[in-house]
Amino acid sequence: MHQTQDQLRPKISIVAPCYNEEESLREFHARASAACSALTSSYEIVLVDDGSKDQTWRIIESLADVSPNVVGVRLLRNHGHQLAATAGLHVAKGERVMLIDADLQDPPELLDQMMRLMDTGADVVYGQRASRDGESMFKLVTAGLFYRLLSRLTSVPIPRDTGDFRLMSRRIVDLFMLMPERQRFIRGMVSWIGGNQVALPYERQARFAGTTKYPLKKMIRFAVDAITSFSTVPLRIAAWVGMVTAGLAMVMLVYTLWQWSQNSVVAGWSSLMTAITLFGGLQLLVLGVLGEYLGRLVNDAKNRPLFIIDSIRAGRNAYQVPSE
Ligand code: UDP
Ligand code: MG
Repeated sequence: MHQTQDQLRPKISIVAPCYNEEESLREFHARASAACSALTSSYEIVLVDDGSKDQTWRIIESLADVSPNVVGVRLLRNHGHQLAATAGLHVAKGERVMLIDADLQDPPELLDQMMRLMDTGADVVYGQRASRDGESMFKLVTAGLFYRLLSRLTSVPIPRDTGDFRLMSRRIVDLFMLMPERQRFIRGMVSWIGGNQVALPYERQARFAGTTKYPLKKMIRFAVDAITSFSTVPLRIAAWVGMVTAGLAMVMLVYTLWQWSQNSVVAGWSSLMTAITLFGGLQLLVLGVLGEYLGRLVNDAKNRPLFIIDSIRAGRNAYQVPSE
């Protein structure tokens, strides 16, 4: 018999990207399943292995063997947190989808409150960090500055102190999937979609185990992606910097010509060097900004798939697309 889409839909999907999370996964699975089964038996837990180098995939397979609700998705290589999450959202079939980190920094138990907020008409319920345990001072300060800078640069209202931990309705997930961009900033993209988006304040926990998979380099990359996806203000600043320096150069030119006309050409090695290095530096800076945006264009124009799924391992699960 042919099943309709709705029969194939669990009420809840939980999507968690996992990169070298062997130490947290079992605990995560236990807590996430408990949070779901307290509400319904119709749920799935989509665990995306983002090209882990440890036992993560083994553990996902063994979880899928014993638990009918687990859907393991293995990416062919490491695509990064945002794309791994995107892959999970593609696979998830739920009427509502909760996106959450696998390291238990975001408590799965909030599912209940998020579901209730959605029952009252929210399209998205996002977790807003009232506090953050176990993060370095440096991370707290840079994250704080970043969210404030971002909100100044963009007209899309991207809520502060908000990660990707959120519950989304099927409609929002479907719209999200229509967005083809490669350098993804999920929390901003979901804000951009609009609808009724509600905050749920919570205490962010320390990692259950292991260390962060976001070293400084990845954090900077992430911040640049966020800004270039949601603002063209840096381009405008670049243009202004260019105009101001061109103006300064004109003044210098007039001054130089005047000096020359007075026949008093000075031995100006120092001022010359200063001007050359200053303007050279500014030009490279402006070119760099242009390059960031150009790079985005090139990446999107290539139109490659966002991620490559190596294999899917589902527990005896009713929600996978049946073979014809
Ligand atoms: N993650 C991923 N791919 C990566 C890096 C991280 O799937 O390349 C996952 C990771 O396993 C975790 C989530 O993304 O579930 C958030 O990463 P992490 O906890 O390291 O970031 P932080 O919380 O320190 O910002
Ligand atoms: Mg974390």
